[in-house]
Amino acid sequence: MERDKLTDIEKKYLDSAGGHCIFCGSKELDKGSPFFDEETNKVYVSVMCLSCAEEWSDIFSLTEVNPVTKLIEYKTKEVEEDGEN
Ligand SMILES: [Zn+2]
Repeated sequence: MERDKLTDIEKKYLDSAGGHCIFCGSKELDKGSPFFDEETNKVYVSVMCLSCAEEWSDIFSLTEVNPVTKLIEYKTKEVEEDGEN
């Protein structure tokens, strides 16, 4: 969803990382187990407000990757191969 199409309430919700109910503002939320949907490549978490009983889904997508050790080995190999040309 494009950010300029979001309501102010939804923007506030995203900016606070989903810490409060989008209907009543309560912080008493019950979040379900994350579900990964292979078709959309997104993770869905159902959320219920314990104060007003409204429900919605938080939707997560991949935004960062943090390579640790294997990429370093690969890059070293690549540099050695380039040196031979
Ligand atoms: Zn609520």
